Amino acid sequence: MADRRNTLQKEIIHRTLCDMSCHPTAAMVYDAVHRQHPTISRSTVYRVLGQMAEEGQILRLGLAGSDDRYDGNIHRHGHVRCRLCGAVADIPPVAMGEPEDTAGFLLEDCAVEYCGLCPDCQKQCRETMLTPPEGVCK
Ligand SMILES: [Zn+2]
Ligand SMILES: [Zn+2]
Repeated sequence: MADRRNTLQKEIIHRTLCDMSCHPTAAMVYDAVHRQHPTISRSTVYRVLGQMAEEGQILRLGLAGSDDRYDGNIHRHGHVRCRLCGAVADIPPVAMGEPEDTAGFLLEDCAVEYCGLCPDCQKQCRETMLTPPEGVCK
């Protein structure tokens, strides 16, 4: 019955990820799964997330400057990341023309990631009258 158990765990992990719109790291998914289903181990969550990403059921985002994050939304879309707190949100897909110079690469896909300040950080900066630390998105 190991298969059945695996399928069930996979469903739970998938559903948990899809309910989280914050593009969580594996650790965050584990925390959420663990709260509801304490018997599912950390290694299972990490393994299943990796598996589902390989199989294309979820997205693994290797965003600059952070751990891998996972996304239950596999429709084509772009991302915007807050450079202060690291929050990631979905944005509609951005149409990008093909660059004139592809450096000899055969282009297959284009992942768009914007970076800036999220609404919370903007609000906090306004309230504390602090100018957001200058900086380049990293
Ligand atoms: Zn922020
Ligand atoms: Zn997304």
